[in-house]
Amino acid sequence: MAKIHVLSQDTINQIAAGEVVERPMAVVKELIENAIDAKASAVTVEIADGGKALIRITDNGSGIAADDIELAFLPHATSKIQNVEDLLAVSSLGFRGEALASIAAVSQLEMVTKTRDALMGTRYRIEGGDKKEIENVGCPDGTTFLVRNLFYNTPARLKFLKTSQTEAGYISGLVERMALSHPDIAFRFINQKQNRLSTSGNGNLKDVIYHIYGREVTSNLIEVQSREVFCTLSGYIGKPVISRGNRGMMNYFINGRYIKSPIIHRAIEEAYAPYSMQHRYPFTVLHIQIDAKYIDVNVHPQKMELRFNNEKEVFQSIYHGISEALRHREFIPDVTFHS
Ligand code: ADP
Ligand code: MG
Repeated sequence: MAKIHVLSQDTINQIAAGEVVERPMAVVKELIENAIDAKASAVTVEIADGGKALIRITDNGSGIAADDIELAFLPHATSKIQNVEDLLAVSSLGFRGEALASIAAVSQLEMVTKTRDALMGTRYRIEGGDKKEIENVGCPDGTTFLVRNLFYNTPARLKFLKTSQTEAGYISGLVERMALSHPDIAFRFINQKQNRLSTSGNGNLKDVIYHIYGREVTSNLIEVQSREVFCTLSGYIGKPVISRGNRGMMNYFINGRYIKSPIIHRAIEEAYAPYSMQHRYPFTVLHIQIDAKYIDVNVHPQKMELRFNNEKEVFQSIYHGISEALRHREFIPDVTFHS
């Protein structure tokens, strides 16, 4: 008897979906990025049961035209690029056109959306990738996604999730990073009906830092504004007194994205080395702008790690920018030097 068979399209879709959305946080990330790409100025994220039972994301962005809705849920359907050449120039956060199709394949999803110039909005329901319903509704401009029972049809994925509390913690961290990278967007995060974060969207990064980290951190910040050879830096770094025993407060965003780079970690830590004890890590919220031509595009898009074509130069630029900001400070007296 033959042993080989081709997987059913449903199974193929579920496997592909699992690579894009591996946990509730990934759903939230994709939907927030879509809201940002849709030029929303306010985004609300609401979850129940760590996002396993419910994720609701509301934005006041462009909305999706009724004629485009079914297309938007097809794999590789995107309004953001036309071809591979566009990839290099892309400034939107998404472009692969996989998120909606993937999320819809592994959840019970409802979307309500309206563009500014439409008289009526549309409600669309899709479950396990099967379209259920599309109808006209009255609703505000923008888009709301309601994702219920994530992984209800892929029990193996569901089992791999952590406790609701842990999953909620991942989502909370994500929303905080989104708020820090976009101070001009008002973010709200509601967990189990409790309001956990509200930022004003007034564009003031220090206000966002205050909402997330509180008074002690906010009153110990050094502003960074510098143009280096290979990048520009802006944002805030903490005085060494507020350094912590782990890297949890090192935030940086490259061209608006939260990304990890071992080179940037090292540049920040080495700049702080003269002022810090060993195994203490600084607070930073740095916005780094780098010409896309220096970014290695061969890195897998799902990985949050980034490489540069000119690592040494990028290291030098960031090290220099932070060292200068630290050196010019009046904070020196309140630092205890350990030899
Ligand atoms: P991508 O973001 O890579 O284009 P997605 O599957 O995430 O792919 O979304 C598909 C398309 O649906 C987007 O290109 C966009 O046109 C539309 N879309 C998705 N979410 C929103 C939203 N919140 N507001 C407006 N349009 C959206
Ligand atoms: Mg997207």
